[in-house]
Amino acid sequence: MTPKNLRGIPASDGIAIGPVFCYIPTELTIPVCAAGGADEEMARFTAARERARVELQGLYEAVAKRAGKEEASIFEAHQEMLSDPALEGKIREFVEVGQTAEQALSLAIEELANLLAGMDDELFAARALDVKDVGRRILRILLGLPDTALSAVTEPSIIIAEDLTPSDTASLDPALTYGFITAQGGLTSHSAILARTLGLPAIVGMGSGLLDKVSSGAFIVMDGRTGEMIVEPDQETIARYKQIKMERESRLLILKAAAEKDAVTANGRRVEIAANIGEAASARDAMEHGAEGIGLLRTEFLYLEDTQPPSEEKQYRIYREIFEVMKGRPVIVRTLDIGGDKPPSYMPFPAEMNPFLGWRAIRISLDEPEIFKTQLRAILRAAAGHHARIMFPMISDLDELRRARAIFESVKRDLELASVEFAADVPVGIMVETPAAAVLVDVLAEASDFFSLGTNDLTQYTMAVDRGNAKVSGLFQPLHPAVLRLIRQTIDAGHAKGKWVGMCGELAGMTKAIPILLGFGLDEFSMNPRAIPEAKNLIGKLTDEKAREITGQAMSLRTAAEIENYTTGILASL
Ligand code: PEP
Ligand code: MG
Repeated sequence: MTPKNLRGIPASDGIAIGPVFCYIPTELTIPVCAAGGADEEMARFTAARERARVELQGLYEAVAKRAGKEEASIFEAHQEMLSDPALEGKIREFVEVGQTAEQALSLAIEELANLLAGMDDELFAARALDVKDVGRRILRILLGLPDTALSAVTEPSIIIAEDLTPSDTASLDPALTYGFITAQGGLTSHSAILARTLGLPAIVGMGSGLLDKVSSGAFIVMDGRTGEMIVEPDQETIARYKQIKMERESRLLILKAAAEKDAVTANGRRVEIAANIGEAASARDAMEHGAEGIGLLRTEFLYLEDTQPPSEEKQYRIYREIFEVMKGRPVIVRTLDIGGDKPPSYMPFPAEMNPFLGWRAIRISLDEPEIFKTQLRAILRAAAGHHARIMFPMISDLDELRRARAIFESVKRDLELASVEFAADVPVGIMVETPAAAVLVDVLAEASDFFSLGTNDLTQYTMAVDRGNAKVSGLFQPLHPAVLRLIRQTIDAGHAKGKWVGMCGELAGMTKAIPILLGFGLDEFSMNPRAIPEAKNLIGKLTDEKAREITGQAMSLRTAAEIENYTTGILASL
């Protein structure tokens, strides 16, 4: 085969070399056809069930070997479900009244899953999902389709998919994933953000047709820094990429050691460098990479991984663990930011023409105050004795902010009345990620203790460009003069009101942007943990005077391309 070179959007740094696993979630359509006799349909079901048992045993053994028996136990549980007499009984009932094995299976699974889901118990509700999963496996086998789910990855591979949802990405097993490449997605789509947090090489936005150009088992090289993918590389190419990988890794090791120290500019001014994380494991990673705090704890993954919102106790435990890992360093907890590209399965989401402009983030919290209050209680309780701050996402006006704060105050009163231990002095701030908030910072300062710029959404909304749409990803320009003016305006207006202004959008970790942001006087840069060593190194090379000079020059330019060219030149000269 001749080598093929393809290029996409570089989404997460790192080189991966290995075999491809094409992830193609299959639509399982039940064919409309006449059933055979009841015994014949039953025999088809039992044969498929046995095949499913063999598949599950294979998965159990692979996961047990790699991650231990506990991790693998889910596949054991699924095997037990296959033998459930209730399932077999229900299927027999349906085939006896003339249904095909596929129809009978799907009806029986639906009944059993609904029964479990309706039991008002967290454990049973979770089992309902498992029952559906088992049903899907048998149905796929009945339809004669191969297993292409992510759980079927048993050898370390590079995952290639049309797109990955945030939960797909979260379910990737790091031990079996060298990296991933998607046809869709943009630099700040949540799967790309998650890849950076996990330190997984990723390329997105390869364009549709990607899955026609490569198939499972092909051997490839990918470079998440340049966006290059080489199919069936020759030996020389493989050796070259192995060398680059080694050089980059040893540079990172040197920078990582230096990143243990706090960030200071070349003229000795302290600048806060924090990390964006989604769970406790990343908090440990953040500490290892020199984070001086957490500038953004994305709590929504807690809301996406289950069949119901997380309980107060579960949240309390997780937040507490993160605060403990961070050992007294400041942690900004963002309240749930679901909706948009992150809809949880248990909420009836209306079909929306524009989900990013729809029911998301603080809008959901204000409409569902019980879910919001549960989260605020958990954060405030966990924050006792720690250095925490709370941040609301997607605020666009003072009224909204006042309503959110009123709920926050009522939660504090309730905790006090119930004599529950909690942190009474937690500052409350907002993300500046809508253009409305950016131009209203002076007004919002009345009810916000601090601000953090969310440049992913701020760019999306300012440029009117969907952050996950590969087709228009070239227009997603966080260094566009319009976005930079809004950032400058936010920082200046926040400072004029005596407020701290940080940034937790992806721009804060981009070396091309850091000199400009430093010149704006940004108080804190929060980024994916692995970007921290390089950022601290760069800040250490810049004086405030130099940064202001760069900013002045950049702000006199008229397009994003001019600004990028200019800062790329500056970086090369440092
Ligand atoms: C942002 O919008 O910049 C941000 C940090 O939030 P998220 O990426 O989670 O939407
Ligand atoms: Mg956002």
